[in-house]
Amino acid sequence: MTEKNSTCLEELNFKELGINWIGKIDGYSFSIEDKQDSENELIIYIDLTANAKSKLFEFLDECSEASEYGLDKDTLSIIYLEDSENDMSDFLKRLIAKLKEIDAKCVCKYCKQTDNLSFYVNNTTYALLCEKCGAELIEKFEADKKKKNNYARGLFASLLGALIGSTAWIIIGSLGYIASIAGFAISYCAFKGYEIAKGKFNRTGIVLNVVAIIIAFLFAQYAVLFIEFSKEFNTVNPLGFILITPILFSDADFMKALLPDIGLGLLFAFLGTYRMIINNFKSAKNAENLNIEKLDF
Ligand SMILES: [Zn+2]
Repeated sequence: MTEKNSTCLEELNFKELGINWIGKIDGYSFSIEDKQDSENELIIYIDLTANAKSKLFEFLDECSEASEYGLDKDTLSIIYLEDSENDMSDFLKRLIAKLKEIDAKCVCKYCKQTDNLSFYVNNTTYALLCEKCGAELIEKFEADKKKKNNYARGLFASLLGALIGSTAWIIIGSLGYIASIAGFAISYCAFKGYEIAKGKFNRTGIVLNVVAIIIAFLFAQYAVLFIEFSKEFNTVNPLGFILITPILFSDADFMKALLPDIGLGLLFAFLGTYRMIINNFKSAKNAENLNIEKLDF
């Protein structure tokens, strides 16, 4: 967006939210996405009759500033092309005059009613809502924040999921391969289990998932070791293997032979899981700071 247009929107009392500007002119609420080039996307949530729709499209066809437009249910999107001479105000003025002429009104995103609409904002996300839907949304978020969490149940479910996911690691590992996709399967199933058990999505919850993932990873590596061992010594059974484990692990030569495999396994597990963990951690942090505000213009 050009500086001229940013200034124009500031003068029109628009507010900047991340890459969007939101504001209200003459009862019409707009959001304008700054596409970082000469194109900007105007969004208006609007209720149109078939007749009003064709009149509006006729108008937009004649506007040289509108390079593209589309209507998806009640979301009207217009790609506004900037030029170096004029700012957006002229186009907005003409658009609003047309919306008034065809008696189009903005609508609440949830219930589609047209009175008392405001933007409700959380960080950089927003929704145009009526008073009732806005109050309900705020209430729901406040209730979610206060909800107690059962961490033990969450950890158990996450561990169960991670162990199910670890079968992929064991199968691939017993064939002599290591794949980061198997690490991904462990973490995916861990988070899925946690979600099914309705574990609270906060940072503590993510740490519990990481603990479950590490336990499942160690279990899977151990199981692969047993399978490899039993290939060489047919007589060994799981219990026998568990009993000789301390002796094996205290053998320096055995550990030396094992370390490259463990290191490689860790690397692949890390590659398969870290992005999901970091993304979930970030979303959890945002969710904890969730605060919905009503913006009045
Ligand atoms: Zn509503």
